[in-house]
Amino acid sequence: MLNPHCFRLDTGNETNQWHTKAMELLTRYNIPIVPVCYHVAYEYVTQRHGELTQEIDIQLKKAGGLDSHFLLHLFENHCLKGEDSDKLDDHLADLHNLLFKVLEGVTNNCSHTDIFSQTLQKQSHALEANPSLEDLRGIAQTLMHATTQAMDNNRKLHSNLQSVEQKSLSLQSEVKKLRDEISTDPLTGLFNRRALNKRMHELVETYDEAETPFSILMLDIDHFKRFNDNFGHVIGDEVIRRVGLTLRDKVREVDFPARYGGEEFTVLLPETDIFNAMDIAQSIHQSVANLILVKRSTKEKLPKVTISVGAASFRQGESPETLLERADQALYQAKESGRNQIVSEAEINYM
Ligand code: GH3
Ligand code: MG
Ligand code: MG
Repeated sequence: MLNPHCFRLDTGNETNQWHTKAMELLTRYNIPIVPVCYHVAYEYVTQRHGELTQEIDIQLKKAGGLDSHFLLHLFENHCLKGEDSDKLDDHLADLHNLLFKVLEGVTNNCSHTDIFSQTLQKQSHALEANPSLEDLRGIAQTLMHATTQAMDNNRKLHSNLQSVEQKSLSLQSEVKKLRDEISTDPLTGLFNRRALNKRMHELVETYDEAETPFSILMLDIDHFKRFNDNFGHVIGDEVIRRVGLTLRDKVREVDFPARYGGEEFTVLLPETDIFNAMDIAQSIHQSVANLILVKRSTKEKLPKVTISVGAASFRQGESPETLLERADQALYQAKESGRNQIVSEAEINYM
């Protein structure tokens, strides 16, 4: 299932117009007309998906064009939103039902227990009332029957509880798996942009003036397009993956490395001032420069991979978007100054 926009039945006139515009957009930028790209282009021309429209406008301004990878990332980030969270909701509903059933079972059993204790009480009164031998036989039979039934009910409840526990455990692990999938980039195993946004909002909301502010690095592979053009997209993907792994290895446990999209990454650095952030950037930059990539089929060494990095620190009162924007400006400055370097926001102020 996709997001709710997919289920709209637009009217004929509108649809024709949007279809034509979407096709024009795809053709203008030479993007293959495959369902994923078409869907994003269609959503864009309808202008009804604010964030998606904004991202495409920014990309058009920045890069002067679009490509299929960019549209695919938008699709993953915006259009698939509903799918996993819906699955998660289903699982949570299952878990809720399961717990409800357990409660029902326990309540039923308690009422059985009530009946059992009433029977016991009744029989104990009967015992006090000087019963005859016949009465005693009756009382013994009633007690036997009631006890057997109570034991039976307990056994049933026990086995119900066991199967419920099993089911609840497997649902819990399914929920955890889905939660991980929702926040993970499949190619690199790093967090994705959705997870980054969420974490940034959390850090901003819980920020305390007494704390060292957190920082963010924005990293972009230099001339990455050449890897794609010269070696193909599969190798391109592998380059992205290896840079992602290097990033993961170089950051601390508390840090939050994410694939921002395409060949761009971010690292959130909690309680880290801009100077320490620059040190971490330096160590990542060096490790990427040390990477040796070999094309497996031909043993050919790939050209060196370099990255440009922009660094910025949180300023109280600002939004996550503003912070990202400053890191992006620093990154832009690093690119403009010749790539393969790190620029902090302090430097852009003086340029
Ligand atoms: P710069 O140094 O200015 O960053 O140049 P660049 O070539 O790295 O950047 P540009 O934005 O011109 O090109 C990035 C290319 O990355 C364009 C796009 O086709 C490709 N790309 C984006 N996502 C993926 C992906 O997931 N896999 C592969 N193989 N290529 C991707
Ligand atoms: Mg690049
Ligand atoms: Mg880029």
